[in-house]
Order: sequence, then C-alpha cells, then structure tokens
Amino acid sequence: MTATGYVRPASIAEAVAARAAHPDWIVLCGATDLMVEAPLRPAPVGVVDVWALAELCGIAEVDGGAVRIGAATPWRDVVTSPLIAARAPILAAAAREIGALQIQARGTIGGNVGTSSPVGDSLPVLLALDATVELASPRGTRRVPYRDYPTGYRTTALAADELIVAITIPAAHPGARQLWRKVGTRRAQSISKIMAAALLRVEAGRFVEARIGLGAVANRPIRAAGAEAAIVGAPVGEATADAAAAALAAELTPITDVRSTAPYRLATVQQVVRRFVLEASSPSSPD
Ligand SMILES: Cc1cc2nc3c(=O)[nH]c(=O)nc-3n(C[C@H](O)[C@H](O)[C@H](O)COP(=O)(O)OP(=O)(O)OC[C@H]3O[C@@H](n4cnc5c(N)ncnc54)[C@H](O)[C@@H]3O)c2cc1C
Repeated sequence: MTATGYVRPASIAEAVAARAAHPDWIVLCGATDLMVEAPLRPAPVGVVDVWALAELCGIAEVDGGAVRIGAATPWRDVVTSPLIAARAPILAAAAREIGALQIQARGTIGGNVGTSSPVGDSLPVLLALDATVELASPRGTRRVPYRDYPTGYRTTALAADELIVAITIPAAHPGARQLWRKVGTRRAQSISKIMAAALLRVEAGRFVEARIGLGAVANRPIRAAGAEAAIVGAPVGEATADAAAAALAAELTPITDVRSTAPYRLATVQQVVRRFVLEASSPSSPD
C-alpha cells in the first residue's frame, strides 16, 4: 500500500477535519483488513491513520449500564475487559475467535464494522445485543442502530466524510441469556462458515425477548426476524426450537462458496439456533 498523503490525527476533531479535507483518502486503523485487500486495489491517494488514537480507544460504562467501546479498541482489550465479560459475554466470546492472538492485538471493532463483511464475527453479536454505532462528521455526531447500518454486500450507512467513533451496547435485562456460536474449519485463523448470536429471555416458562443475529447466510449480517417471531410468546422446549428452525428455512437463502455450501449453512444455522432455544429453555438459565 503506497499512499502519497498521510495524517495521524491527535483527536477525533482532527480526524474529522482530515476526513472532510481529504474525502478521497482512506481511514486506516489496525490495517488487518486493509493490508489483505491492498494488493487487489489501486493504492489509496492518502491515509487518515487512527490506530491507537486515544479518544477512539477504551471500554467504559455509560448511561446507567450501557457499555461504550471506542472504535479503535483492539479485540485483545475486548477479550480481557471485565465490563465486557459481565455485560456482553458473547462479544468477548466472538472476539476470542477472531483470527488468532496477533490479529486480536491489532484488529479493532471499528475495523470489523467498517469492513462490514458478511463474515465479520462481531457483527451478528452487535445485532443480537441491539448495539448502536456512533458516527462523527463536520455536521456533528449521529447514532445509528446497528441493525440499520449494513445496507448490502460490504456497503453501510457510513457517509463518505464520517468516522466511526464508538459502538454502544445497551444494558440487557439481567435475566437475558446471551449465546454465541462460530462454525469454521478450525478454532483459530478460520473464516466462519456460519456464525450466530442470540439474546433470549424467558419469564414464567415463555420466551419474552428474542434477538438473533446471523452471519455468512446473506450478503450482510442479518437478524433472523422469522425465527424471532416464532420464539417470542412461545413456551420453552423442543416445539419452539423446531418452530424456530422451520422459520429459518423459510427466511434464509444462503449461498454456496469456497467456504461452505448452501445446504450445509442452512442446516448448521438451524441446528445452532435450535440448541440456543433449548439452552435458554433449560432450568439452569436465569429467568
Ligand atoms: C489472518 C487474518 C485473520 C482474520 N480473522 C478474522 C476472523 O476470524 N473474524 C473476523 O471477523 N475478521 C477476521 N479478520 C479480519 C480483521 O482482522 C477484522 O475485520 C478486524 O476487526 C479489522 O480491524 P482493523 O482495525 O484491522 O481494520 P482496518 O483494516 O484498519 O480497516 C478496515 C475497514 O474499516 C474502515 N475503518 C476502520 N476504522 C474506521 C473508523 N474509525 N471510521 C471509519 N472507517 C474505519 C477502514 O477504512 C477499512 O475500510 C482477519 C484478518 C486477518 C489478516
């Protein structure tokens, strides 16, 4: 990657100004996606380098129980954060399976959101946890619900002059169960065949809340709206697990590619979501 322009801003304000002054430059953070893609693209005109920009790093509690994660926070910090372990354990679980230790030391949550690949491992988790993306530009700051952020294959709601500043995860109900599963060829350095994340809550033997985020089964990370509808209001147990699996068959049309086949993807997602429902149905789960 050879760029003719380079700036390393010292603040979000400087980064936003650089973005506005150079709309044809790229934003670079950990570079673990950009360097892989570099040989396949023309060299960028210039680079706004936000790696380790202090204002974009860190994990903190905000607004009475929500967790705000700076866009330039590397996965290693997500994995080791006690706050994430307590509030968003499935984000830590997903982060632990991204690449291997070297990638987790360098790759960031903002970069995963920025690339917006259908196989970005954190993205189904952000859907299940109903996260919000904070974006900054010369027009100010706006907050976009993550479910509205991916708009197509690697396209997003990010405007050309915007910077991803942070991801915020709202406080979940204390009785909610968080579940995560990545299926790949290995436990590390493996791009997902499918991944699924869920937040499920049971009260008095019935599901009262269900959000299911899926990856690698569509051109973008998606919520499984049909399966969620089959679960909410239904009693715990096998029949609801079967209904959720049937709803997935009706709503998903995964593709066959180098990593997996469409039938395998559908069958595996059905199996994983079935297990989520049964796990959340078990008496040991908080309800
Ligand atoms: C060997 C290897 C293994 C990998 N394994 C996995 C895996 O298992 N799971 C997985 O999900 N990913 C994996 N990845 C991909 C990558 O590590 C992640 O997507 C990572 O989170 C990207 O973060 P980054 O900071 O390196 O992004 P960068 O490469 O710096 O940027 C990625 C994109 O986001 C944009 N961007 C970054 N920050 C901002 C910002 N603040 N504002 C606006 N735009 C921004 C950039 O312009 C670029 O388009 C792997 C990569 C490699 C090389």
